[in-house]
Amino acid sequence: MDTRTRSVEQIVPSTPGQLTVYACGPTVYRYAHVGNLRTFLLTDLIRRTAELLGLQVRLVQNITDVGHLQDDTAVDADGEDKLLAQARAENKDPFAVARFYEEAFHRDLALLGVHPADAYPRASECIDLMVALIVTLIDKGKAYVGDDGTVYFSAESFEGYGAISGNKLSELRAGHGATGESTATGKRFHADWALWKLASESREMTWPSPWGHGFPGWHIECSAMSLELLGSVIDVHTGGIDLRFPHHEDERAQSDSAAGHEVVRHWVHGEHLLFEGRKMAKSTGNVVLVADVVERGFDPLALRLAFLSSRYRQQANLSWDAIAAAQKTLDRWRASVAAWAEEPSKPMCAEVQAGVLEAFCDDLDTPRALQVLRTCEKSSMPDGCKFEIFAWADRLLGLDLARDVGRAPAALPEGAASLLSERATARGGKDFAASDRLRDALAALGVAVKDTPAGQEWTLS
Ligand SMILES: [Zn+2]
Repeated sequence: MDTRTRSVEQIVPSTPGQLTVYACGPTVYRYAHVGNLRTFLLTDLIRRTAELLGLQVRLVQNITDVGHLQDDTAVDADGEDKLLAQARAENKDPFAVARFYEEAFHRDLALLGVHPADAYPRASECIDLMVALIVTLIDKGKAYVGDDGTVYFSAESFEGYGAISGNKLSELRAGHGATGESTATGKRFHADWALWKLASESREMTWPSPWGHGFPGWHIECSAMSLELLGSVIDVHTGGIDLRFPHHEDERAQSDSAAGHEVVRHWVHGEHLLFEGRKMAKSTGNVVLVADVVERGFDPLALRLAFLSSRYRQQANLSWDAIAAAQKTLDRWRASVAAWAEEPSKPMCAEVQAGVLEAFCDDLDTPRALQVLRTCEKSSMPDGCKFEIFAWADRLLGLDLARDVGRAPAALPEGAASLLSERATARGGKDFAASDRLRDALAALGVAVKDTPAGQEWTLS
């Protein structure tokens, strides 16, 4: 689901065979709660699906360790940096705090079975890139140095501002700054935002720049890092729904202004997560961490399965009961997979396989994919066949289902699953020419297909 166009779109990579993905990462001043992790899981699901379809994925996720203010809806150049505030509270060096929570973030992702990104650039190590980008934006007349010495992006210079969130510049006056007009200092227009802020002598984490000693605004880092590491066309950009505005709106304005064209082809946002019916917020004490889940004796992958039970774009209400139910399913599936593995291996039922893959390809309809698997589990299909299906599906689910199995499943070569799925569709539509062509393509990959009354069966030749 593309947030900007508000429709489900087919993702066609700009470079055939390769998918570039940028994911907004954590601000490393605290532990990521399970709501944040659900968004990171969304990126993992996109990546796993693309890879199963034979695409080479390049994923970049940033680490925000500077410039993210306590209140980023306010364009307040004096606002307090989240990380610096936490460092003061912990009485530690801000970089030490950042590295501590960054490590915790990586640990949590590993526990949740999220494959690591190809690069995790840190904002504090990309200051040069940001400065260079700001220089470009000033040269292009998109940014200016305000009377207060802060460099601002000129919101009015970017036609189409607000396309992701639906916010119009003319309506932003009231809502953009939490403290309203009083935040306007050296900027020319109320909705302009800071790209570079001057720092006082006492502030930590500052850098030299053509505009004086200071630090970058939060939004500029994602533009600078994504353009540098993925190029000026990015297939998919993910993030939590709360980042839609102003973060992604501002990022889009910056990136597109610098590149001279639409940089991000698809914006995909993960919805909010409620826990026990309430919003997850520190102020209400309703924050759940992976550590809390583990402490209650659950496998972190039960949390992953609980997430898969709702679609990423729907608000989900997680509860301890839901995690307990997911744990039961996970235990049962692992035990079944181990038992099924004892039976002779049978070719996968291509229809079940296609059902799972189609659900994932249909805007990550994970509840439907799980339903297909539950039906397969209860069916009279041979155990050897169920084993292969579940072992294969786990490449998408990431639940470590074959954990207790002694032998490795007969894995399909890269790209074969999508060909089988296409062929099932072609046969369904009585397109036998396409079906024969796909059979040859599969044979070239070493997969022999047989048509039976129950559908396609395959074996590795
Ligand atoms: Zn970002």
